[in-house]
Amino acid sequence: MSGRFVDLHTHSTASDGSLTPTELVLAAQRGGLAGIALTDHDSGGGLAEAHSAAAKIGLRFVPGIEISAEAPPPATLHLLGYFIDYTSPALVDMSRILLEGRNNRNPRIIARLNELGCNITMDQVLEIAHRNGTGQDRAVVVGRPHIAQALVESHCVNSLKQAFDVYLGMGGSAYFDKERLTPRQAIDCIHRAGGLVVLAHPVQLRAENHAHLQHMIESLIDLGLDGVEVWHSDHRPQDSEFIAQIAAKHKLLVTGGSDFHGTRKPDIAIGIGRNNVRIPERILDELESAWKARKQTASPAA
Ligand code: AMP
Ligand code: FE
Ligand code: FE
Ligand code: ZN
Repeated sequence: MSGRFVDLHTHSTASDGSLTPTELVLAAQRGGLAGIALTDHDSGGGLAEAHSAAAKIGLRFVPGIEISAEAPPPATLHLLGYFIDYTSPALVDMSRILLEGRNNRNPRIIARLNELGCNITMDQVLEIAHRNGTGQDRAVVVGRPHIAQALVESHCVNSLKQAFDVYLGMGGSAYFDKERLTPRQAIDCIHRAGGLVVLAHPVQLRAENHAHLQHMIESLIDLGLDGVEVWHSDHRPQDSEFIAQIAAKHKLLVTGGSDFHGTRKPDIAIGIGRNNVRIPERILDELESAWKARKQTASPAA
């Protein structure tokens, strides 16, 4: 056993991270990691670039995605897809639907902000989303963190956190939800794209207690969930411990990652490979073995 570490939850400029896919891969290498998964929101748009950058330097790479699914408030339900075929029609079609949902929502948020006296424009938000070497021609998932940055740059708020607390977060005065997939649709889509489905940061389900959390996870298992993210920057040690117990009980895969977004999540911007979430490489070995076993069962002739 090499004693090396991986990070299985990261974002790039293809969604709301601040490093390009190539920069992210190089940062992971500098941080001493053995491998990463790129899990941009709603899109596999950064995967081809990250994949080839990782291959060049011999970093292990998992093509991934993070999909926001419907859940009753105050829950946030994000599903990670691992080892997805990012060229699969199932995934490309789904991304298009999710991008449309964002394109319907983002102008509403900006219009409301304008009514509230914050004069930011969609062009400003798009410029921020395409900054850092990601050309205008490339599809980028534009999200609330980009709008938050526009609010900071326009001096409407002092910090990204304040932008979410006052305006953009659930309960904020410019909060609008976006169209989402149901959990079943998201799980089926990741499976059709050949990937494994892992529940991201289960604490964000905001369960009332342990029994409630267990029940919510079991409902997802009924829909085909393959694993749970046990270690995450938002998890306290006791959260990870309980989630690991549920995983053991149901023989779920376990994963972990920092949810690195670069400067877009200042509290975990310390650097990929340098934060508190330390995932041993064997977690990636186990995930990869499970994926290979699944592929063999799905197509025994292959
Ligand atoms: P969106 O996908 O456009 O709805 O934006 C969701 C993203 O916003 C999440 O993935 C986080 O990166 C970020 N986010 C959500 N809530 C907060 C918050 N309270 N503070 C900072 N960032 C947040
Ligand atoms: Fe994000
Ligand atoms: Fe998430
Ligand atoms: Zn994430």
